[in-house]
Amino acid sequence: RNIPPIHELLNDNKIVAEIEQHNISYEEAKQSLQDTVQSLREEILNGEFSNISVEDLFDLVIEKTLKQIEEHKMHNLHSVINGTGTILHTNLGRARLATQAIDHVVNSASYYSTLEYDVTTGKRGSRHDLVERYITNLTGAESAMVVNNNAAAVYMVLSSFAKNYETIVSRGELVEIGGSFRVSSIMEESGTQLKEIGTTNKTHLFDYEQAIHNDTKMIMKVHTSNFYMSGFTSSVDREDLASLAQRHNLIYYEDLGSGLLYNLSDQGITDEPVVKDVIAKGVDLVSFSVDKLLGGPQAGIIAGKKEYINALKKHQLARVLRVDKMTYAALEETLRLTLTNQVEQIPTLRDILKDSSTVQNEVMVFLEQLKDLNQLIVESLEMKSKVGGGTLPEVELDSFGIKVQCRVQTAEQLSQQLRTCSPPIIVRVENSSVMIDFRTLERHEQDEIKKALQAINNRFK
Ligand SMILES: *Cc1c(COP(=O)(O)O)cnc(C)c1O
Repeated sequence: RNIPPIHELLNDNKIVAEIEQHNISYEEAKQSLQDTVQSLREEILNGEFSNISVEDLFDLVIEKTLKQIEEHKMHNLHSVINGTGTILHTNLGRARLATQAIDHVVNSASYYSTLEYDVTTGKRGSRHDLVERYITNLTGAESAMVVNNNAAAVYMVLSSFAKNYETIVSRGELVEIGGSFRVSSIMEESGTQLKEIGTTNKTHLFDYEQAIHNDTKMIMKVHTSNFYMSGFTSSVDREDLASLAQRHNLIYYEDLGSGLLYNLSDQGITDEPVVKDVIAKGVDLVSFSVDKLLGGPQAGIIAGKKEYINALKKHQLARVLRVDKMTYAALEETLRLTLTNQVEQIPTLRDILKDSSTVQNEVMVFLEQLKDLNQLIVESLEMKSKVGGGTLPEVELDSFGIKVQCRVQTAEQLSQQLRTCSPPIIVRVENSSVMIDFRTLERHEQDEIKKALQAINNRFK
């Protein structure tokens, strides 16, 4: 009975201000109030708020309603600050795009564009032509095309060329990539017969040779991406597989996973070969992700011999798996930056290549500006960043960051509080402390973390 009537609540100053300020309709506000009142009524019937005064109850309804309206206004997809030190964090959207790529997306999305139009002839063009030259220049492949992601690329290659035939793969390469994407499952789904050969740790050329018979169409090599084996292992060189396939009139296809276009071995980071070197070994087709080490939007690239790529472009699946203009725009600009040696503009590569002393300096500046915290203990700490996204599992990048402990809260509670900041700050919790790796943080993100730590500290004063 003490719950105030809706019409009275709707006249409350705060609600009226919210309606005026934020473009909220009267109906929306009314609906939010009704929802709040309804759930409050249930809570009261369950024995909660038994001693609450009429005034406090009124305020409570208003407060809860404003919170609900705020939550509704927030997008479900919004930015977060990645303090985990994992550069390509699968759950946090993998690669962030270069500013130039974003500008190109905005421009292509805002206006009509040449997506399938040739301005020279005034006739219909093909979206396949938008980025093919960049890819062939960067990889040395004869031809290339783009699909929705690398999983789609694998599916399309197998389904187009090896459906109802056999594809030979080494047991050591039948990996699960994460998010329950299994190479073996996608192969089965494509309609090819999976012919597993060798053992987990060793596969020899004769294993491949012996498996070839009339129904064989393809030899496939899969990058083991997110794990690596050491010790008593061996796999067959791609040159040998390429020539074996050629002798038997088979297609030799490699799923490269992340597909490196920029040579990271010169920097001593990994000895992973660049796509160009792979193609040079005589591989017929390769496919790789665009939002892994390439640092672009979600997409997959298929590159290789012209006769195969032409067949793929004409396949019905090309329509099913095609990408839209925003993806092309982001991809074109990312490839252009790679081709013109401006990879430091691509956040993924910039962060991989960042020197640990640069990261350390940023941590020192941060700590200098963060004084008089009496409830939080913040210290600098050496750490190791991961590239992530199922790439370069053996690589650990020397990095720096901060370790935060709270005198009155557990690390889990602190991490939860950081997640409720706006934007949410995502951290690592290790050995009962919160760890924030600075490798992936831009200056304004560091400022947000500073503000958040100060605010949390002040809460416990
Ligand atoms: C990541 C990966 C895939 C899937 O690529 P998406 O672009 O995420 O679809 C397929 N194969 C390998 C070997 C990978 O590493």
